[in-house]
Amino acid sequence: MDTDKSYKLIDEVMNCSKADDWQNAKTEWQIVNYTDVELTEDDEHTCVCGKEGLKHLYTIQNTITKKTLFPIGSVCIKNTGSNYCS
Ligand SMILES: [Zn+2]
Repeated sequence: MDTDKSYKLIDEVMNCSKADDWQNAKTEWQIVNYTDVELTEDDEHTCVCGKEGLKHLYTIQNTITKKTLFPIGSVCIKNTGSNYCS
C-alpha cells in the first residue's frame, strides 16, 4: 500500500479540477504530452506525487479548467484512470 503518495497525486489533481469528487474529477483529464528521458544524475525528474527518478514523463491537462500537471510518472498515470494507458 502506498496511500500517502496516491493521496498527494489525488490532492494535486483535485486542486486543478472543477469536480469536487475524484471519480468525476479524473474524467476531466487527458494526456497532452509524453516524453521518455534518459536517467542521469544531473537530470532528476520528480513526479507530482513525489516519486523520483521518472523515466516516462506525462503532461496531463484538465479539459475544463485548462490547467496542466507535469511531470506525471507512468504509475501515476495508471492511478488517474486506465483509459490513459491504452
Ligand atoms: Zn507519481
